[in-house]
Amino acid sequence: MSATQPTTATGTTAYPLVHAVNVTKAFHGNEVLKGIDMDVAKGEVVCLLGPSGSGKTTFLRCINQLESIDGGRIWVDGDLMGYAEKNGHLHHLSDKQVAAQRREIGMVFQRWNLFPHMTALENIMEAPVQVAGQSKAKAKERALALLDQVGLKDKPSAYPAQLSGGQQQRVAIARALAMDPKLMLFDEPTSALDPELVGEVLKVMRQLAQDGMTMIVVTHEMSFAREVADRVVFMDGGVVVEQGAPKDVINNPQHERTKSFLRRMR
Ligand code: ADP
Repeated sequence: MSATQPTTATGTTAYPLVHAVNVTKAFHGNEVLKGIDMDVAKGEVVCLLGPSGSGKTTFLRCINQLESIDGGRIWVDGDLMGYAEKNGHLHHLSDKQVAAQRREIGMVFQRWNLFPHMTALENIMEAPVQVAGQSKAKAKERALALLDQVGLKDKPSAYPAQLSGGQQQRVAIARALAMDPKLMLFDEPTSALDPELVGEVLKVMRQLAQDGMTMIVVTHEMSFAREVADRVVFMDGGVVVEQGAPKDVINNPQHERTKSFLRRMR
């Protein structure tokens, strides 16, 4: 398979921001992704739905190379993840090159994973200063703006332990945004939160979507998927079972597996 994506007749690239083709992944012989094809357009919000164990998290982790894939290809913004083509052959990228690709993708995990010994502001400034080499002054200015964006303008000096779970998740979102990612991946960002804290995190995500961020969100929040997603993708057993507009898939699922999952979600 070629490392390059097709170009249009006029020579301009017509690729989606994320283009995944026949992605497979096994753990110890257990194939958890069985040939996933998925395209996500720039600015699109896609929610991944499906029962626990269906491979949603693994697929997200493959996109940003926290897991290596066994087969298939993933491109993000035209870059083939993990590989480069040289003399017609594909070569694995070096760790440094993989890190550079990963820097363009923001990820927010189920459990907030802030640095506990750093304030909210320091958490957000860390990567821009240490990894991207920004000046502290510039990184601080941006971090303060991001704290404002996630509704935590008054918390720059708070340590994670002094923040609620919802506040910590909002700092985690701000921290991911600080590297100006092309794509944001969310892995059940609200599932570890007390119910009363879910709304404040979803609100920040909703605003991000409205601002045009390309997002792939693994979630069990059906109302969020219905309201914010441009498309929902239902996965089960390592395959995409069906996908489409939320109103079609959630209100009128075609496949028995989707119907039975949605019945259980109600
Ligand atoms: P989902 O996000 O849909 O709940 P996951 O991608 O987390 O599904 O998991 C899919 C399957 O892969 C599960 O059976 C899980 O136990 C297995 N799995 C995920 N990560 C690993 C790993 N690092 N080692 C072994 N098995 C794993």
